[in-house]
Amino acid sequence: MSDPSSRLEAYRAKRDFSLTAEPAGSEAPTSSRRFVVQRHRARRLHYDLRLEMDGVLVSWAVPKGPTLDPRARQLAVHVEDHPVEYFDFEGVIPKGQYGGGDVVVWDWGTWAPARTDDPRRAVERGELHFDLHGQKLAGRFVLVRRDEGGSGKEQWLLLHKDDDHARPGWDPEEHPASVKTGRTNEEVAAEPEAMWRNDLPAAEAAVVVARPHVPSWDPPTEDELDALEAMGTAGSWSIQGHEVRLTNLDKVLFPAREAGRPVTKRDLIRYHAVIAPRMLPYLADRPVNLHRYPDGVDRPGFWHKEVPGHAPEWLQRWRNDEADPGETECYAVVDRVAALVWMANFAAIELHPWTSALADVHQPTWALIDIDPGPRTSFDDVLVLARLYRTALEHLGVAAMPKVTGQRGVQIWVPIAGGYRFDETRTWVEKVSRAVGRTAPDLVSWQWHKDQREGLARLDYTQNAINKTLVAPFSARPAPGAPVSVPITWDELDDPDLRPDRWTVHSVVERVQACGDPLVGLVGRQQRLPEL
Ligand code: MN
Repeated sequence: MSDPSSRLEAYRAKRDFSLTAEPAGSEAPTSSRRFVVQRHRARRLHYDLRLEMDGVLVSWAVPKGPTLDPRARQLAVHVEDHPVEYFDFEGVIPKGQYGGGDVVVWDWGTWAPARTDDPRRAVERGELHFDLHGQKLAGRFVLVRRDEGGSGKEQWLLLHKDDDHARPGWDPEEHPASVKTGRTNEEVAAEPEAMWRNDLPAAEAAVVVARPHVPSWDPPTEDELDALEAMGTAGSWSIQGHEVRLTNLDKVLFPAREAGRPVTKRDLIRYHAVIAPRMLPYLADRPVNLHRYPDGVDRPGFWHKEVPGHAPEWLQRWRNDEADPGETECYAVVDRVAALVWMANFAAIELHPWTSALADVHQPTWALIDIDPGPRTSFDDVLVLARLYRTALEHLGVAAMPKVTGQRGVQIWVPIAGGYRFDETRTWVEKVSRAVGRTAPDLVSWQWHKDQREGLARLDYTQNAINKTLVAPFSARPAPGAPVSVPITWDELDDPDLRPDRWTVHSVVERVQACGDPLVGLVGRQQRLPEL
C-alpha cells in the first residue's frame, strides 16, 4: 500500500505517455516535504494542491483554490497521487488527454504535518492538519474528508485556521501569476512549447523546444519619461540613444471620453514609448501604413504611406521595388522605441503593419479574420460570431487569438508558417468564415456593397492580401478617450465586462502589466493550416 509505484498506477492508467507531456514517474522517493499548488485550466479551472509524502505527491483538486480566508470552506477532491517529477511542471497537457489544458506553478514551498508524525495515516483517517510555508500560502491548513463520494473520488474540505497568516477575503484568483516564471496560464497556453515535457521516462521528460526568436525591447527609463513631462510645448527628446524632435505637445488629439480627460500629443507620445516593448513585436520587421490625424481625431484623418523627407535618418525604411508610378515607394519600418515616438509626434495615430514581413512581402506571416460589424450588429452579435470562430479553430487544432479593435469589432490573428501565398490564406479564411456564417446566417451578409448588407456583419477575409492591413495590437483608434486595440484570451469573450473599446491609452498599460499579452506567444509561430 505504501509502495509509490502501486499508488501511481491510477495516475498512469489515466494517461497515455506516448501522447502527453507529463512525466511518468521514476525518480527515487525522497524524504523532503515540499508542496506545490498548480493552477490548472482543464475542462474546468481548478487548483491542484500536492503534498510530497513518501516519494509521491498526494493530491487534491480544489475548484475555487486554496485561500488564506479563515471563513472559507473549500471543496477539495482527493485525486490520485502524482509522481514527484510533476512537482515543478508548468506547461500544457495536450487537448484530448486526461487533464488537457495548461498548468502554472501557482505556489510552492515546504510543508509540515501538525498533530501527527504519520501524515499518510492521517490522510487515510480523513483528517490532516498541516502548515504551509509558501510564497502565497502560509499558516495552518486542515483537510477533512466529508464523504467517500459515489464515483470513487473522495470529497474533502480545505480550510485555513484563523492564525497570524489568515487574511479574511483573500482570493486566489487575484494572485494568478506563476511563482516559477511570473507567467499567467494565458501566457503559458500561448507558448506551449516553452515548458513542453516529453513522454516516458519521467527523468528525461523535461524538453524545451526552441521558440521562434522574438527580439525584445527595453522600456523607456523613468528619467526619460520625466524629461518628456518637463518639456515645454516643443523640444528635442533623447530616447534610447536617439534625438526625436517633438512639437505641439499639449495639443489635444483625442477629446475626453465620459468623465475622463482629453488625450494630448504628449500623452500619446508617452503611451507609444511605454507600450513599445509590447507593440514592436508586431511591427519590427514589416512595412507599416499610417493613418494620420494631425488636427486631432475630430477632423478627418488620411492614409499616409510614403516616408516624408523630414523623417530622421535612423528611421528604418523599406523600398518597394515593385511600386508602379504614383505608388508609395518608401515605407517606414517601426523597429525601435524612438520610431514609435516619432510616429506619435507625426500624429500617426493608427499603425497598420503589413501581414507579410520584409524577408518576402509576398508571403503572409499572419492570416487575419475580421468580424466587421454592420450598423445593426450589436457587440453581443460580434461575440456570438467570435465564439463560433473559437469553436471552429479549436476543432481544427489551429492556434489563434482574438483582439478587440478598440472600435466595435473583434479580429482573430492566426500565425502561419513560411511558404504560403496570400491567395492561400485568403481562401482558407474564407472557407472557415463561410462555415461560421452558415451557423449564424441571420447575423452575416456576404454582400460586397455596404448598402446591400442590411446592416449585418461582414466576415471579411479580403484583408489577406499584400499591402492590406488591420490595425496593430496596442495601436490607438481615432475616438474620444483614445481607445486601443487589445489582444484578449478566448475566455475573455465570456467576460460580461468585455467591450470592444474597453481599454484606452490610459488603462491598457496596467492591463498588460497584470495579464501580459496572450497574442505575443504566437509571433513567429510556424503553423501549417489544415486542409478544409
Ligand atoms: Mn489538475
